[in-house]
Amino acid sequence: MKNVLITGGSRGIGREATVLCGERGWSVGVNYVGNQEAAEETVAMVRQAGGRAVAIKGDVAVETDVAAMFDTAERAFGPLTGVVINAGIVAPSQPLAEMSLDRLKRIFEVNVLGAYLCARECARRLARDRGGEGGSVVLMSSAAARLGAPFEYVDYAGSKGALDTLTIGLSKELGPQGVRVNAIRPGLIETDIHASGGQPDRAHRLGATAPMGRPGTAREVAEAIVWLLSDAASYTTGAIIDVSGGR
Ligand code: NAP
Repeated sequence: MKNVLITGGSRGIGREATVLCGERGWSVGVNYVGNQEAAEETVAMVRQAGGRAVAIKGDVAVETDVAAMFDTAERAFGPLTGVVINAGIVAPSQPLAEMSLDRLKRIFEVNVLGAYLCARECARRLARDRGGEGGSVVLMSSAAARLGAPFEYVDYAGSKGALDTLTIGLSKELGPQGVRVNAIRPGLIETDIHASGGQPDRAHRLGATAPMGRPGTAREVAEAIVWLLSDAASYTTGAIIDVSGGR
C-alpha cells in the first residue's frame, strides 16, 4: 500500500495517474488549484476504483500552500511514500520576442519554482535521515525540454529542462536516503492543456506527425507514472523516461 500525493491530480494526466493508484488500492491526495468540481469528480473516481482519496486545494507556486498540502495528505493517510510533481501550465503560443514579463514569471513560478518547492518538501519528509520512510518522486517534464518548442512555448520548454536537471541532482542527493527520483517526458497527449494554450486541436494535429502517427492518452502516461511509483521500479532512479510515441 502506498500513500501518494499528486499535484495537479484533478485533471488530465494527473487524474489518470490518480485513478490508477486507486485501482491498486493506494491512498491519494488529489491537489488542484481552482477547479473544485473536477477534483471532487476525481476523488469519486478513485474511491470507485478501490482506493482512498482526498481533494487538496493549493497553488504549487505558493510556499505555504505546498507545506499545507503535504500536511493535509499526511494527516489523512500517514507518511507519504510517493509524490508526483505533475502540476504545470502553458500560455498561448508566441515567439519569445512577444512574451510579456508577467507571462514569463508565471510560467517559471508554477513550472519551476512550484516543482522545486514540492521537491524540497519531498526531501524534507521522505528522506530516511529526516525520519521519512523513503519512497518515489516522479517529476512531470516534457518532450519540449528536448525539442525547444520554437514559436510556441520556449518558456515552457525551458521550464521543463529545469526539471530534467532537478531530477538528475535530486536523485543523487536522495538515493542514499531511500528515495528514488525520476522524470517522465510526455509527448503530445490529449488533455485540456492544449486548449489553455489556445490550440485545442494541437495534440491531434501534431500527434499525427509523431513516429507512432497519433497523440498519446493520459492513461498511457499514467501507466509509466504508476510503474515509477511502484516497487517494480525499485532500481530505477535518476531516469528521464520518454512517453512520446517516438517524438
Ligand atoms: P491539464 O489537463 O491542463 O491539468 C493541469 C492540472 O494541474 C489540473 O489539475 C490543474 O488544476 C493543475 N494545476 C495547474 N496549475 C496549478 C497550480 N499552480 N497549483 C496546483 N495545481 C495546478 O494538464 P496535463 O496536460 O494533464 O499536464 C500535466 C503535466 O504534464 C504538466 O506538467 C504538463 O506540462 C505535462 N505535460 C503535458 C503534455 C500534454 O501534451 N498534455 C505533454 C508534456 C508534458 P485545476 O483543475 O484546479 O486547474
